[in-house]
Amino acid sequence: GPAPEDSSVVQGWLDAHADGFGHFINGVFTAPGPGFEVHNPATGGVIACVTQGTTADVDAAVHAARKAQANWAKLSGHARARHLYAIARHVQQHARFLAVLESIDNGKPIRETRDIDVPLVARHFYHHAGWAEIAADELPGYAAHGVCGQVIPWNFPLLMLAWKIAPALAAGNTVVLKPAEYTPLTALAFAQVCAEAGLPAGVINIVTGDGATGAAITGHKGVDKVAFTGSTEVGKTIRRQIAGSGKALTLELGGKSPFVVFADADLDAAVEGVVDAIWFNQGQVCCAGARILVAEAVAARFESLLKARMAVLRVGDPLDKCTDMGAIVHPVQLDRIRALVAQGVAQGAVLHQGDAPEGCFYPPTIVTNVQPANVLSTEEIFGPVVTMTTFRSPTDAVELANNTRYGLAASIWSENVNLCLDIAAQVKAGVVWINCTNVFDAGAGFGGYRESGFGREGGREGMMAYLRRPAPTGTPAELPE
Ligand code: NAD
Repeated sequence: GPAPEDSSVVQGWLDAHADGFGHFINGVFTAPGPGFEVHNPATGGVIACVTQGTTADVDAAVHAARKAQANWAKLSGHARARHLYAIARHVQQHARFLAVLESIDNGKPIRETRDIDVPLVARHFYHHAGWAEIAADELPGYAAHGVCGQVIPWNFPLLMLAWKIAPALAAGNTVVLKPAEYTPLTALAFAQVCAEAGLPAGVINIVTGDGATGAAITGHKGVDKVAFTGSTEVGKTIRRQIAGSGKALTLELGGKSPFVVFADADLDAAVEGVVDAIWFNQGQVCCAGARILVAEAVAARFESLLKARMAVLRVGDPLDKCTDMGAIVHPVQLDRIRALVAQGVAQGAVLHQGDAPEGCFYPPTIVTNVQPANVLSTEEIFGPVVTMTTFRSPTDAVELANNTRYGLAASIWSENVNLCLDIAAQVKAGVVWINCTNVFDAGAGFGGYRESGFGREGGREGMMAYLRRPAPTGTPAELPE
């Protein structure tokens, strides 16, 4: 097969920062301070040291963002659009570097970072450059919130950053963003890309650190809007933390999305769908199709097709261009997956697994004989583990699909488009895919219901989340005595 991706450019960049990375505040990198090591999960090796953001660092970043915001918002939409186009172009110029760095830092296969993550990042900035151009005409009277505090997870480090930063900037906000502690490196590289692209100082600020740094950002008095992607638990904590503060808030949280296969579905296509739904990014996807619901009539055939497909998935070196599944992001996550699966098995579930190398890898896994109350049916595993349950009627299918406290996404497979549309309307999920799955577009809103959070990212709704409604004009008539 093809040679593994050459990582020497990234290694050179990491070597140049052997003393550690500081934050990116007001257009420059600060001197590295005390912090923590970042690992390559596929090898276990230390690849960098980053600085633990203190409240003073967060203060400095918010101050820089505040100072930059007035001028940024005063720019014409066209001028802001030019900056966003420039960021998109520079991301494309450094696409290979960013893809390799992301694979080394996160463990995801180079095929995904190269073909999916990084192109979607560029696409997101191009799309929002368009919004910057037309926002004043399309959304008259709306104004930027001011300074946005953004906290993101480790599963799509660069893509989640793009989802947060592109609309914020298009709308005239400035940003203080914290990447996840497992995967801070592409956010720092992105800051460098922005500096190279000529983005004014202070418009984006990146502060690295853990949950305490995140809480310092979301709770900061100078932050006007908070956007968070991550676990439902932390989302709830942030909501409590900022209650009554007047800050705008959007939350993108967990999921346990159904993948519904009707008897008349193209089963081969649906099998490929499962590969994309749960084995893409090692299943560390908030909208992963984690619960297969398959019509009883075709369940046995579907199961054997799926097992045959699983058996040829290649799990291993993320930089190998033939790898289908890379490493789990961190040994802590691996332990969490193992513990949940063991608990599910103790409750009666039966495992069917492919192969995985030693180390921080987990094999692709199908779980059968799984009852609705089994922990594997109810808990978000955030790993390459999919449950399989059968149903008899469309009504059953809808009931099973909605039997979750989440509501992020769903995927429906049938050759009968009327049935698909009918079921789509009954499934309580923010995004419903028909005969496809995990399709993301900057022009379409993405987000959840119930414990999956609220607010949308992408499209018009995503733009609206970064704008304040116009103040009401005029005073209401006085009431007669
Ligand atoms: P996490 O909630 O532990 O961490 C997410 C981020 O929040 C990290 O940057 C972390 O440092 C920070 N954080 C932790 N405590 C904080 C606090 N008290 N205040 C402010 N920030 C804090 O989640 P994770 O383990 O990094 O990511 C996995 C979870 O994220 C999964 O549950 C997954 O479903 C969810 N997720 C959701 C989406 C979505 O779009 N809905 C996308 C990706 C991941």
